[in-house]
Amino acid sequence: MNFARSQKLFQEAQNYLPGGVDSPVRAFKAVGGTPPFIARGKGSRIYDEDGNEFIDYVCSWGPLILGHSHPQVVDALKRAAERGTSFGAPTELEITLAKMIASAVPSIEMIRFVNSGTEATMTALRLARAFTGRDKIVKFAGGYHGHADGLLVKGGSGLATLSLPDSPGVPTSYAQNTLVAPYNNAEAVAGLFQQYPEEIAAVIVEPVAANIGVVPPQPGFLDNLRSLTSRSGALLIFDEVISGFRVAYGGAQAIYGITPDLTCLGKVIGGGLPVGAYGGKREIMKMMAPTGPVYQAGTLSGNPLAMTAGIETLKVLSQPGVYEQLESTASRLEKGIARVVGSLNLKLNISRFASLLTVFFTDNAAFDYESVSKADTKLFGRFFQQLLAEGIYWPPSQFEAAFISMAHSDEDIDFTIGAIEKALNRLEV
Ligand SMILES: *Cc1c(COP(=O)(O)O)cnc(C)c1O
Repeated sequence: MNFARSQKLFQEAQNYLPGGVDSPVRAFKAVGGTPPFIARGKGSRIYDEDGNEFIDYVCSWGPLILGHSHPQVVDALKRAAERGTSFGAPTELEITLAKMIASAVPSIEMIRFVNSGTEATMTALRLARAFTGRDKIVKFAGGYHGHADGLLVKGGSGLATLSLPDSPGVPTSYAQNTLVAPYNNAEAVAGLFQQYPEEIAAVIVEPVAANIGVVPPQPGFLDNLRSLTSRSGALLIFDEVISGFRVAYGGAQAIYGITPDLTCLGKVIGGGLPVGAYGGKREIMKMMAPTGPVYQAGTLSGNPLAMTAGIETLKVLSQPGVYEQLESTASRLEKGIARVVGSLNLKLNISRFASLLTVFFTDNAAFDYESVSKADTKLFGRFFQQLLAEGIYWPPSQFEAAFISMAHSDEDIDFTIGAIEKALNRLEV
């Protein structure tokens, strides 16, 4: 494969953008080599500036659950753009998307649209602090909730990949309000509630951890968080920026039957345009300005193009059979990789939840940050490079999930399994 043009662009980009990118994981630091500069995408495929074609398992890190350039989304976007790209005034589109989300996720009685998942979690915590009159929050090691100050403590993938110190630039005084527990360990959370009675405003959790690779919740873990927070008067915040409309139409909370006080969304609900949202109980959401005193605003919030892409994406996702197809495609990939791994002498663990999948280069069960951080990242880097050379664009970090979309066909999956088999065979020698 020839990457001459991408190499040239990457050189040039580094003169103007730190590391040549606008988000760290794109720079391929964890796996080495030059990131292909992408020219276009269609369905399950992306095409780079040198004309190379890849089956894409990044899918923009989750939003593109329908694949690239879905015709229904693109057509609606074209029409919306002709009507105007932004007004800074209310539009009916915001009500339409809000209603669709509220009917899919009943814990969301009211919602506020913002521009990124980071804004959503940052504001949900501000709101939780205002509502409870408490300052401390609990997060989990390896949980990523965007890059707001105070959440950059034991923050998962990007930070794990680059081994950055937890949070340079974040005042210690601020980070001190962030308490960290191991994922899947409700006893540790109970301990924090004992240590800081009436001081904890909220527990924020990815109900299915996906930013240390895919780590599903153990039975009872989320229920325990629900009862611990309720008992102490703290809020339970589900960060469903990845899992929302991904693991099920109603998100992880539909699967586990748990009602969080607040939910953060992003990625899928923007259909590939910049969106985030937070929502939940009416009495809590009413504390937001202008009905209440908690301030948060946004020039482009509820942007008509973003709302349109979200609405069209949810329309497709709400049709019968969609999640069954995602499950069967993802399961085909999982089984295919398992078959290959079974015949090899490599220590691997395939962790899958719905259409999220990680191949961990360790045979530790994926339980928490500690267990997955033992993975052999060097070996993963070689695996990644082999796959790229075979035309598979796998997430360029051991600690990320691969995203399977509605556009991935059985043929795509079988081709991918073949490429993985070749790659792993080469790693074994
Ligand atoms: C991606 C992500 C975020 C941050 O969303 P951005 O839109 O990138 O700011 C927050 N929480 C989780 C769980 C995420 O995966």
